Order: sequence, then structure tokens, then C-alpha cells
Amino acid sequence: MRALTAAEVIRLWELASRYHPVDRALAVLQLLIPDQHRDILAGFSLGQRDQLLLAVRQATFGDRVAGIDHCPQCDETVEFELSCDTLLAQSGEPGAASLDYQGYRVVLRPLNSFDLAAAAAATSLEQARALLQRQCIVEVSLQGEAVASDQLPAGLQDRLNETALAADPQAEILLDLDCPACGHKWHSLLDIVHILWAEISARAQHLLREVHLLASAYGWSEQQILELSPTRRASYLRMVSA
Ligand SMILES: [Zn+2]
Repeated sequence: MRALTAAEVIRLWELASRYHPVDRALAVLQLLIPDQHRDILAGFSLGQRDQLLLAVRQATFGDRVAGIDHCPQCDETVEFELSCDTLLAQSGEPGAASLDYQGYRVVLRPLNSFDLAAAAAATSLEQARALLQRQCIVEVSLQGEAVASDQLPAGLQDRLNETALAADPQAEILLDLDCPACGHKWHSLLDIVHILWAEISARAQHLLREVHLLASAYGWSEQQILELSPTRRASYLRMVSA
């Protein structure tokens, strides 16, 4: 995966700021994989999507990802650092996965961006969760006879998450965190769309500031300034502010 150029970072930020995160992720992929139709990209499993976004993140902003979370027990701010290389090495292909439980058999498929977009329209978190669960169920049978997917026993419901993860092993990146203040340990879900978007947004605003300074000093156009290599841009900026 290639890196986003300076001009692309600004274009994405300008275009997708008003988008839902599901569409922001697709906007990034559309820009870098232009030969695939948007519907194909939206049909990628969330694990596949996130691996591509991680590759974009690595190419554009480097391998190390620094993030923060808050301890669920004492609210202490906890910093963590990750390597995209390590996260990209997670293996597992998306595909249908099945679960057998007391005569029931449930077949699940991986969730994709279409499913997330449908869930985004839900009015509550519970409704969104229920909708995603319904979306990923391909079929349910009891002793070989098809049954409705809304009549699953509670014990089976509890195991559906595990099966959904087996259908798309790269969809969930869990971080093991522990709190330096109170010692509490917990898992935090890595949200690569959120991380990448925050970085695109910060980089775009930083670049616009650089354009402003160099255009004011030299009268160059925005395009000319963005086409300079980062090293050359930084050198001119040092001279301008000297
Ligand atoms: Zn704590």
C-alpha cells in the first residue's frame, strides 16, 4: 500500500470530515484502490478493511502508533504504543463460520461496511447490536430444520460473538492494557478508523498552515507547495521563520 500524498490528505479531510466513520474508511480506500468499485470495497469484511487501513496508516504516518485510553476503574490516562507491522502480521482469512449448540446449528458470515452503515441508522446501541447480529446470521437450523434467527436460546446467543470473530479473525484487535495507578487490567478495542482519521485531520491542518506560511513568504501556489517533498518544505519553513 502506498502512502497518501500531502494533497490527498487535505482532499480527504476536506471531503470526508462530514462523513460517518464507515464512509471515511471507504473514502480512504477508494482513493488508494481506485480500480475497485465502491461496492466491492464496502463488501470487504471489516477485518480486511482494517488491515488495508493499517497498511495505509503505516505507509503514511510510520509504523509506531501511539494512543491513549482511560482506566475503566480509576479513570487514569493510560498511554500505549503499537507497531503496525505486528498488527498486520495477524493471520486469518474471513469466511463463513458455524456454531453447534444443543441441536442448533448457526452459520455466520463476516460483517462488512454495508452492515455497519445499516447499523449506523439504528436509534440505540442495543438496536444496532441486534441488527448486526441478525445481519451476520446466514442460517439457523434445529436438528436439520430451518428455524427463525430470532428464536435462539440464550446460551447460544452468548457464543455468537466468538463465532463471529472466527468468521473474521482480523476484525477485532484487542489491546491488553494495565493501569499504572491502580493495577487494573483490561482489554481495549483498537479503532483504526478513529486513529487514522484523527491523524489525517491533524496532518491536513498542519499542512494548510505550512501552505499559508510559504505562500505568504514566496507567493507559491498551494499545489506547488504541496508538491515539495516534506524535507524541502521543512527547510523553507525554517528559513521563513529564521
Ligand atoms: Zn486504574
